[in-house]
Amino acid sequence: MERLLEQILQENYQKTIKEASKEEIYTALLSLTKEKMKGAKRNEGKKKLYYISAEFLIGKLLSNNLINLGLFEETKVVLEKHGHQITEIEEIEQEPSLGNGGLGRLAACFLDSIATLGLNGDGVGLNYHDGLFRQTFADHKQKEEKNPWITDLSWLTKTDVQFDVPFKDFTLTSTMYDIDVPGYRNGCNRLHLFDVDTVDESIIRDGIDFDKTDIQRNLTLFLYPDDSDEAGQLLRIYQQYFMVSNAAQLILKEAEEHGYDLYRLHEHVAVQINDTHPTMVIPELIRLLMQRGFNMDTAIDVVRKTCAYTNHTILAEALEKWPVAYLEKVVPHLMPIIRELDARVRRDYHDERVYIIDEMDRVHMAHIDIHFGYAVNGVAALHTQILEESELKPFYDIYPEKFNNKTNGITFRRWLVHCNPELATYLKELIGPEYMEDAKHLEKLLAYKDDEQVLQTLREIKMHSKQTLADYLKRTQHVEIDTNSVFDIQIKRLHEYKRQQMNALYAIYKYKEIKKGNLPKRPITMIFGAKAAPAYTIAKDIIHLILCLQQLIENDPVVSKYMKIVMVENYNVTKAEKLIPACDISEQISLASKEASGTGNMKFMLNGAVTLGTEDGANVEIHELVGDENIYIFGKKSEEVIKLYEDASYCSREIYESDATVEELVDFIISKEMIQIGDPVNLGRLYKEIVSKDWFMALLDVREYIQKKEEMLADYEDQTAWAKKALVNIAKAGYFSADRTIAEYNRDIWKLS
Ligand SMILES: *Cc1c(COP(=O)(O)O)cnc(C)c1O
Repeated sequence: MERLLEQILQENYQKTIKEASKEEIYTALLSLTKEKMKGAKRNEGKKKLYYISAEFLIGKLLSNNLINLGLFEETKVVLEKHGHQITEIEEIEQEPSLGNGGLGRLAACFLDSIATLGLNGDGVGLNYHDGLFRQTFADHKQKEEKNPWITDLSWLTKTDVQFDVPFKDFTLTSTMYDIDVPGYRNGCNRLHLFDVDTVDESIIRDGIDFDKTDIQRNLTLFLYPDDSDEAGQLLRIYQQYFMVSNAAQLILKEAEEHGYDLYRLHEHVAVQINDTHPTMVIPELIRLLMQRGFNMDTAIDVVRKTCAYTNHTILAEALEKWPVAYLEKVVPHLMPIIRELDARVRRDYHDERVYIIDEMDRVHMAHIDIHFGYAVNGVAALHTQILEESELKPFYDIYPEKFNNKTNGITFRRWLVHCNPELATYLKELIGPEYMEDAKHLEKLLAYKDDEQVLQTLREIKMHSKQTLADYLKRTQHVEIDTNSVFDIQIKRLHEYKRQQMNALYAIYKYKEIKKGNLPKRPITMIFGAKAAPAYTIAKDIIHLILCLQQLIENDPVVSKYMKIVMVENYNVTKAEKLIPACDISEQISLASKEASGTGNMKFMLNGAVTLGTEDGANVEIHELVGDENIYIFGKKSEEVIKLYEDASYCSREIYESDATVEELVDFIISKEMIQIGDPVNLGRLYKEIVSKDWFMALLDVREYIQKKEEMLADYEDQTAWAKKALVNIAKAGYFSADRTIAEYNRDIWKLS
C-alpha cells in the first residue's frame, strides 16, 4: 500500500507522501482504491438482482471503500507516519448528492450488504448532477442552492453502455456511469447511474430554479424537482421512465449476452422496485419482451415472476398517482399496456379500490406493482401489519402470499466501524472481532452489563465523540457546545409526521421553565438537522420556528446557560456520521403508524444513544429487544391513531383550549419575543396550522412527551445506570444489521444463486 501510494504521488506530482498536499493524497488514494476495485472479484451467478431506486444516498466513499477492501488501518498508519490524518484527507471528498433521506440511505446500505454477502446484484439509478439541493440558512429561513458534486475526483466511471430511450416527441441516448461497490472483505458489485450527455447545468438560474420544459437539458439535473405544477410532474415522469427504460434495456442486454432464454427471465433476474418511482419498469419490460416476439399473456407472466416491490410509506400523498393525460404526453407507448393491465384487473376483481386506473383517470403506480409483481414487502413489523390490515387490505385479501415483512437495517461498516472507530475497536477488544462479520455477536456485550470498568469506558468513548462533534461544529458552523450537557438529537427530513414541531414545543416549555427559575441540573443541547422539501410550506415554517428559538435562547444571558439549540446546516450523511456517535438522547417521535421503519433510530442505538420514541416503525422492535428499562416510550399507539383518522375525530383546537399548558406553549410561537426575531407571516401560519389542523397530531402527545423527556433527563444523572442502558442498546443492535435484512430478502424474495 505504502509503496503504491508513494509511486502514484511520485508519478503524478513528483512528491513524497510527506510533501504531498491533502488534495494530492486524496487524488492518489482515489486512483489506488479504484485500481484495487477493478481487480476485485466480481460477484456473479446464474441469477442476478437489479435494485432500482430513484435515490442512492451513498455518502462519501473513500474511507468506507478502504474499510471494505481491508486497507483502512494500513492507510491510516501510513498517512500518520508521514504527518497526515485520514480524517483530514476525507474532507476533500464531496458527498455525492444522489438521495434525499432514509429511502436512499437504505438503498446504499443494501448495496454494501449485497456485496458483502457475495450476492450477484447491482443498483440502478440516475446520475443527478446537482442532486438534492444544498441547504443554507439566511434570515432564519431555509434557502436552497444547487449541489454540484461531479468532478474529476468523483467515483464515477464512464462506460460505453448506451441506450436509446424513446419519448413521445424525441428519443434520448443515455450514457451509463458506474460506481464500484466493494463488499466487506468480499467481491465487488456496481451501482449503475444513467445520464444524458445533453444535460446543461448552465440553465439553472437563481437557487434551484430552471426551465422545467427543457427536458434534454434538465433531465438529470435534480433529484425530486418541484412537482407542484404540471411541468414539474411531467419532468418526474420523464425521469422515471428514463431510469426504468435504461434498467430494462440493461437487464435484457445482459440476459441476452449470457444466452439466457428470455421465457425463463425470472430464473435469471430479480428486479426490486424500491418504492413506486421505478414502477414503469413493469410495462416497459412487457413492451420490450413483446418487441422480441412475446405475446401479451406470456410477457405479463414472465414479468410478474421477475419483479418485486418494497413499500415505504402509508402517507397517501406519497403514493404516486399519475394522470393518464400526463403519461400520454410523455410515454404514450406504455399506455396501451397499462390500459391492458387495468382491464385484466377489472376483469378479475370487482373492487374499484384495486383498479390501476381510477375514476379520475389517474394511474396508481403501487397497484401496478402489487398486481404485476410477485412480492410486496413492508419495512418493519408494524408497517407490514398496517399494510396488511388497513392500507393495502383489499390487496392482501387477494394476494396474502405476496405480502412479507423485511425490517430495515443499516450497514455496520459505515455506521459503526467508520463513524465511531473508538467504539468499534473497543468492542473488538472486549468481545472479539466476530461481530464485524456477524452482528449477532454484539450480544456478547451483555456479559459486561454490570462491569463498572466497561461502563466507565463506554462513558469515556461517548465523551470523546461529543468532543469531536463540538470541535467539528465550532470549525464548520462557528457554534460552541458544552460537552458536559446532554446531547439531545433529532436529525431526519423535515416532515410534520416526524414532529420536529413537537420537539420545538418542548424547547419552548424548557425555556419558560428556566425563565421561571426552575433550573435544570445539567444543561441540555438540542440539536436538529433537517431539510424541508422546497415547496413544503409548513415544513419550512417549522425550520423557521426552530431557528428563531435558537436565536432567542442565544440572546438570553440566563437561559443560554442551561439550554442551547443548534440547527445543523445541510444535514447529510457526512453530518450524520459526526452527530450520531455523540448522541445521548435519540429523538424518534413520529406520530404512531406514520414512520414506516426509520433507520436513524438504528444508527443511534448502535452508537449507544437511548431512544425517546413512540411505538412506531422499527421503534417497536427496538423496544421489544432492549426492554422497558432501556428505552423511553410515550404517546398514543398506532391503533388509536388509525381510529382517530378513520373517525375524523381528532381536534387539536379542543386540546389547545382545554389544556392551559399546551395553550401557553403554542401561543408562544406568535409571542412578541418571537415576532421580534422572526417573520410574522411564517410564525402566524404555523400557529394557525397547529391550532386549527395539526394533521399529524403534535398536540395529542406533547404533554406525555414533555413528561417523558423530563424523566429521561433526570435518569441521565445516574451515570452508571445510563451507561448500562447504552450498553444494552449496543448489544441488541445486531438485529438491525443490513446483512440480516439482505439475507432475508435473498432467502424469501430474490433467491439468487
Ligand atoms: C439514516 C439517514 C436518514 C434516515 O433517518 P430517519 O431518522 O430514519 O428518518 C436520513 N438522512 C440521512 C443523511 C441518514 O443518514
